Amino acid sequence: MTKDDIIALPNAHLRKRSSKVGFISDDIKQLVTAMKDATLDWEDSRKHEVGVALAAIQVDKPLRIVVIRNNFDNKEDRNFRVFINPEITKFEGITEEDYEGCLSVRDVYGKVPRNTKIRVRALDVNGKEIRITAEGFLARVFQHEIDHTNGKLFVDHIKDNPDAFFVLGEDGHLIKLNYEKDVRDNPILW
Ligand code: ZN
Repeated sequence: MTKDDIIALPNAHLRKRSSKVGFISDDIKQLVTAMKDATLDWEDSRKHEVGVALAAIQVDKPLRIVVIRNNFDNKEDRNFRVFINPEITKFEGITEEDYEGCLSVRDVYGKVPRNTKIRVRALDVNGKEIRITAEGFLARVFQHEIDHTNGKLFVDHIKDNPDAFFVLGEDGHLIKLNYEKDVRDNPILW
């Protein structure tokens, strides 16, 4: 798969709940590889951004699969961790706002409130149970991706906040969007 296989709003499939993976077949393993390829291909096409993670629904496959980059600080590390049927078992920490983007919400960024600490349970690609306590940015990424498996996008958390929407400028800086003009009634977002 390539970046062109990634679907974006206003595609209504993104707001559908994905199904649980039963048996982790060769087809599922191939899908996982294709998801990683599509994310890296997208990253290679962007000047200022990193392809941090992807959920299967973003390549139009409604299955509860998420891939998350191994190392957020080093773009050269092109490995991912794979989480099948991920679920948040506990919300901890405090709620903090920070910027989020999404490969399926083209060019729009948002300041989204998330928990700073969560516990996650999932299966790895071999079907073995994984339990993780995630903090900080990783906790944010898990919440964003698990939302995707439930048909929810980051913009849905902030839709009533006129100060939360931004666009990426040419130089890589975020510029606040005009809520009335560019966000509230924008048919691409809702
Ligand atoms: Zn996303």
